[in-house]
Amino acid sequence: MNVLAALRPTDSERGAEEEGEQVPEGGAGESNSWNGSSTAAELTTLEAARSDQAQETRRFPVPPVAETGEGPLGLYIHIPFCARKCPYCDFNTYARLEPLYEAYSEALCRELGRWAARLDGRTVHTVFVGGGTPTVLSSVQLRRILELVHDRFALADDVEVSCEANPGIKDRGQFALLHSLGVNRLSMGVQSFQEEELAFLGRIHDAKDALGSYEAARDAGLTNINLDFMFGLPRQSVDAWNDSLDRALELAPRHFSLYSLIVEPDTPLAHWVETGQTPAPDDDAAAEMYETAMTRLGAAGYAQYEVSNWARGAGFACRHNLVYWRNQEWVGVGPGAHSHLRFPTRLRGESSGDLPILSGDPVDGVTGSGGPAVAVRWSNRKGVQGYIKRVDADESPVDFHEEISAEVSMGETMMLGLRLVREGVPFARFEAMHGVPLRAAFGPSLDRLQEQGLLESDRERVHLTPRGLLVGNRVFSEFVA
Ligand code: SF4
Repeated sequence: MNVLAALRPTDSERGAEEEGEQVPEGGAGESNSWNGSSTAAELTTLEAARSDQAQETRRFPVPPVAETGEGPLGLYIHIPFCARKCPYCDFNTYARLEPLYEAYSEALCRELGRWAARLDGRTVHTVFVGGGTPTVLSSVQLRRILELVHDRFALADDVEVSCEANPGIKDRGQFALLHSLGVNRLSMGVQSFQEEELAFLGRIHDAKDALGSYEAARDAGLTNINLDFMFGLPRQSVDAWNDSLDRALELAPRHFSLYSLIVEPDTPLAHWVETGQTPAPDDDAAAEMYETAMTRLGAAGYAQYEVSNWARGAGFACRHNLVYWRNQEWVGVGPGAHSHLRFPTRLRGESSGDLPILSGDPVDGVTGSGGPAVAVRWSNRKGVQGYIKRVDADESPVDFHEEISAEVSMGETMMLGLRLVREGVPFARFEAMHGVPLRAAFGPSLDRLQEQGLLESDRERVHLTPRGLLVGNRVFSEFVA
């Protein structure tokens, strides 16, 4: 999966699709990090609200991380199936492929097994089973995949194992199964509690399903739950958004992910907008909903630790997604899945067949430490049948790979890290990762953005200001070529 994939709305936090950051268009206006814009009055209101929340949000939900270049390793497992394709979704996921479920789960286990061997005992700290809708698989298939992960990978004692679930899940017994298989974090794509909005989004569940699934998951012992919601829908009123937030807050989940609706090209939604069947999302309304959510979630004890993510209680930030935002390392398996590892030696000049990711050789020494490292990312081919064929033939499913230049890698560390609204980018970690002081790499940009009131820094880190949060993409674009 692409690092950029972490930046956009998903059914939960992740997908396995080549995705683009929502960058400012043509330098006009102040596009923000969730596709809206804000007035000066709104900024003032927000700053006041955030100031009120400051005491609460100092109880930072993000677990401590060593300020070195070496960080945790994540494992992403893509399940490219859904019961129905939502009209706004451009993820690499497909409906009506039930006949492939069995062959796919077997191929996936084969790829997982290869990675378990290649990583050669390196500790995996987070596992994320996403998609798609993992819970469309049978209990036998889910068990096969998760048991392999536990049996073959060296998992950290406190490994976070997340799984996405659709609230329209028919067999609620699957929650107990997931819990018994070591899943300790569930992410549910509720999206709305308004029936007409759920119908517009093409979801297979209604509000009652969402409530029932949430309760069933909790009853099964899955108490660390994220709920996804979407705002900025065409014709969505602020009152309706507030009503969804009311009902969501009553459930008191540990985590929220809130995303504005993006009209992705080549989706049915894009066609509806182009042909006038549906009005385009209203950026001003979306901005108002985003700020409403920030105020209300803050007042309810949720700390906003990332542009689109809130957690209640220390340690309930999504550790897997923190791997992405901190520009650390992960391996993605399944069609379209992206990976990002730091190799200890430069690979430039070698033929692609020599790359450990393609040759199938063990990835010895992939630790991110021990001398100059080069970051490499790659992705598997997207089609499910092609993926199965390649894996079954003992061929690499990788379709694309690139060595990331030092300059680009540093820019990505900034672009991703600044999304962590309070943690930002620690100076020590940046220098340990890249061998260059942050100020030496980006001094003029930092000065300019600080003068504009969009960034602030102390001795330890640089991070967004409340104003910078609302125009995040303008800030992030300073750091990418
Ligand atoms: S449930 Fe809908 S939005 Fe989520 S991955 Fe499937 S098609 Fe996409």
